[in-house]
Amino acid sequence: MTFNPFGVYTYVLWHEEGKEAYVVDPGMMDDFERGIFSSFIESHNLNLTKVLLTHLHIDHVMGAQWVADKYNASIEYNSKDDILSSRLTDQAIMFGLNIRIDKLNADVNLKEGDLVMLNGEPIKVLETPGHSLGSLSFYIPESGKLLSGDAIFSMSIGRTDLPGGNYDQLITSINEKIMTLPAGTVIYPGHGDCTTVKDEKMYNPFLK
Ligand SMILES: [Zn+2]
Repeated sequence: MTFNPFGVYTYVLWHEEGKEAYVVDPGMMDDFERGIFSSFIESHNLNLTKVLLTHLHIDHVMGAQWVADKYNASIEYNSKDDILSSRLTDQAIMFGLNIRIDKLNADVNLKEGDLVMLNGEPIKVLETPGHSLGSLSFYIPESGKLLSGDAIFSMSIGRTDLPGGNYDQLITSINEKIMTLPAGTVIYPGHGDCTTVKDEKMYNPFLK
């Protein structure tokens, strides 16, 4: 689903054989978007238990507390982004949005190498800093999928001019953590089209 003025991509992960589901980067901003999300969860009869956050920029977390409260789900992200968590309203103001977003608190601090199990299938946590200090990517090896947040996009990379951003660190993260995954891995970014490791290796102008 695509939400809020930034067009963030919110992903729901679940397994065909189970009803447990996780949401990655819930960006719903208002009652209309929250309605779209809850209808989706209800129509698929899912039991949502985790909110996984790739990073703590407002567009990726606008709906996080609402989801956690409504579904009694845990909020999980890398604590290196706590510094962004306490400044969510400031971030909104910076982008010209008149909304108030309270500080989020991680129930679980996700770190490099952690395995988050979904119906027996592992989701591997990769630390991919550079767009923010605590940016994570979620790699699902058995399904050959990667949720990259704002680290990499189809033919582009995340911006590094926001607090905690670092261009060299981002390029290192992409080269060492993402480009080393199997070539056929499908990358689902936080904004825009999905792509593959192979295509980005061949055509991404930032990785030449
Ligand atoms: Zn971001």
